[in-house]
Amino acid sequence: MSASLLSVLPSVETLAQQLSSESSLPTLSKALSIGFIRLEIDRWRKSILAGDKTPTREEIESSITENLRHFAASKLQPVINGTGVLIHTNLGRSPLGKTAANALNEIATGYSNLEFNLPEGTRGKRAGYLETALSCLLGSESATAVNNCAAALVIILRHLANGEKNEVIVSRGELVEIGGGFRIPEILETSGAKLVEVGATNKTHLSDYANAITPNTALILKVHRSNFYLGGFTSEPEVTELSALAKEHGITLVEDIGSGAMMNTEDLAPIDHEPTPQAALRNGIDLVCFSGDKLLGGPQSGIIAGKAELVAGIKKEPFFRAVRCDKLILTVLQASIDEYLRTQANPEDTDIPTLRNLAETSENLRIRAEAIVAKIGNITKAELSITDSIATTGGGTMPTSQIPSIALSLNPTGISLNKLSKALRLGSPAIVGYTESSTFCLDLRTIFPWQDDSIATALSALL
Ligand SMILES: *Cc1c(COP(=O)(O)O)cnc(C)c1O
Repeated sequence: MSASLLSVLPSVETLAQQLSSESSLPTLSKALSIGFIRLEIDRWRKSILAGDKTPTREEIESSITENLRHFAASKLQPVINGTGVLIHTNLGRSPLGKTAANALNEIATGYSNLEFNLPEGTRGKRAGYLETALSCLLGSESATAVNNCAAALVIILRHLANGEKNEVIVSRGELVEIGGGFRIPEILETSGAKLVEVGATNKTHLSDYANAITPNTALILKVHRSNFYLGGFTSEPEVTELSALAKEHGITLVEDIGSGAMMNTEDLAPIDHEPTPQAALRNGIDLVCFSGDKLLGGPQSGIIAGKAELVAGIKKEPFFRAVRCDKLILTVLQASIDEYLRTQANPEDTDIPTLRNLAETSENLRIRAEAIVAKIGNITKAELSITDSIATTGGGTMPTSQIPSIALSLNPTGISLNKLSKALRLGSPAIVGYTESSTFCLDLRTIFPWQDDSIATALSALL
């Protein structure tokens, strides 16, 4: 009975052969397409035997073909970001500049002094240069880096809030969810800390913190509301007041600052001020952590900075070994921090793409848009125009900030909107834009000048 039901299953080799000759399918290595098809057929076999489905051979083959197409498109590949979202979590957050990419290439393709002291010829300290450079940039006693900001917060909590003394006081207005499974209450729980919520969503007073302190209080945690905005009837104590309270009781004051802007973001573009780690430390925070790949514009990493004794303790935690950065990340982060230090006096000279894109003028974007439109020439399947648009920082930073920008706007006439955007997404290079009412838009602020030609070529070929 089941044997005859299974007779609808195609043979792996035959189907692989058949699909490899289909020109509309992306090319995969033979081993990979056979492996993929085998997994798919195994799934069908299980579902047929379980009596879930009685498919025809055609259904099976077309489903496998479709899945193979999706699978091939899921391979990490470059994407032209026309969304106008500068730090787009789905599109890899911060792109790297040439300096960082060159450094990466140099270290990645050979050996390096990762843990080797060149003057002495002995074993050296991992990340020693980076940690000192970070301290110089942040004005902190000490600093280090781990894999991401979530890991940074977990290791801070594991180090400071454990055993009996594990209570962590957090304002109810700061129990945030960042996305991607990052929720403050859950991070505290997995770290072994006990959450002590204080205040109300909109208002937390200094006395709320003070009244919650017990002999088991390990630390007071502040969390930046990175991705939402709290307005209206709100208040919270100044960091300096919290710092005085923490000192009085011998408690550590920690802030998860999120995005890690190194300079006044309002000087770069007409956007909100984003808190800086420098200011947090100056105001009396003992330990800050933030992401390396948001406004800092570096690689995915989490930076911890503050009191030397605390950073040293964190680095001695056995768990630190599990979240330490690899040499490629250290290389890119080192190059990014060097870049900030190099351009401190003239930030407009920066090679950090996130900052350059943020600071680019709309006039320049318009000039580029005009050149693209001229290059496209006559098209018949859409009306193309240059429009004012709004770009955003994204990445859970500055939820209310809107950056004036310029977009290419396409009103499709001879093609459906879905077909247009899908064809661009599946092109090479992939181009991702956004749709507003019935217009497809590509925002120039997140498109690099060297990608303009690809945009023109793709649009004229398609339309
Ligand atoms: C983004 C963010 C995180 C998570 O950072 P990752 O580097 O993605 O782990 C944590 N806290 C805050 C406040 C954030 O904005």
